[in-house]
Amino acid sequence: MICVSVCVVAVLGFYLSLIATSRSLSFDQRGKVTAAVAILEAQGFTGEATLLRRVTVFRSSDNWFNAMVPKESAFAATNFPFEIMTLYSDFFTYPIDDTERAAILLHEARHLVGGDEKDAYSYVWKNRAKLGWTRDKYAGSIVWKNVRVQTREYSPEMFVCQDKEFGDCSE
Ligand SMILES: [Zn+2]
Repeated sequence: MICVSVCVVAVLGFYLSLIATSRSLSFDQRGKVTAAVAILEAQGFTGEATLLRRVTVFRSSDNWFNAMVPKESAFAATNFPFEIMTLYSDFFTYPIDDTERAAILLHEARHLVGGDEKDAYSYVWKNRAKLGWTRDKYAGSIVWKNVRVQTREYSPEMFVCQDKEFGDCSE
């Protein structure tokens, strides 16, 4: 019982220290996250939307732990299993609309359930049409190009179709 109590206190202390050493979202940032989560919900990513809306704690700056490890991306980072998601300023400036922010949140939602980078990148790329994040509308976007390159890096087997643009078999 003592052992369990010590463990619970230690984990809770760690969790609170992650929250305490990072900034919360501004009103404007919060609005953008809400809009992106609404898109996920509307496009049928119900589980992810619920997780993001009900469980995830969003922060706008690195906590002490994130600051110690290499950055996962310029857009966001997730602390699993603490369900804390840090959204960097690039998350709010580079995406051209809420759908692109939804794509980034969908990636991070995979990390919320313990998925690695390969899982997160390939999941989003396979589901981009369902999300409405397609080449005809977004091919010129920085986020789209960036995610496509990263997805090929983590899942090269999805990009082996020589006759397709970028070798992307899903196009
Ligand atoms: Zn990631």
